[in-house]
Amino acid sequence: MQPKFCARCGHALEMRAVEDHRLRPACPACGYIVYQNPLIAAGVIAERGDGKIVLVLRGENPGKGLCGFPSGFMEIDETVQAAAQRECLEETGLTIELGDLLGVWSYHHEYKQSSGVLVLYAARVVGGEPRPGSDSVAAKFFALDEIPIEQLAFTTHREALARWAKARGR
Ligand SMILES: [Zn+2]
Repeated sequence: MQPKFCARCGHALEMRAVEDHRLRPACPACGYIVYQNPLIAAGVIAERGDGKIVLVLRGENPGKGLCGFPSGFMEIDETVQAAAQRECLEETGLTIELGDLLGVWSYHHEYKQSSGVLVLYAARVVGGEPRPGSDSVAAKFFALDEIPIEQLAFTTHREALARWAKARGR
């Protein structure tokens, strides 16, 4: 979403070519320039001892009513690994140990005109019972062949799952 007003002084912003010649919202009153950068999200494909994977039914857009792996935006004061663990705990009630990095994806949400970077890890569930939490209306374990692929909200999650399964010879 393009900001319309200066966050520093409240004046209306205008588009201006700054030092790198890219048009950016800038404040003609105080000189403040808005740099718009992708948000970073982190999440996990978390596996239980019996090989089942936890999915959340999403309660918020994007993808409301569809499924996804536990994931969400990093806070300013945490590492990407801590964000992945925290999001899993918040959305599923499960504590995890992180494993391999599955991948890093760029994505765009056209309707919000926003973009981000998603970092997904493999993980092992070490505690807790699945329960719904923030942004999720349910959390449930699925065997790989039970996962409703067409119900996964994001292509990034589908690709990550394919990578996860291939790495495990499944
Ligand atoms: Zn200003």
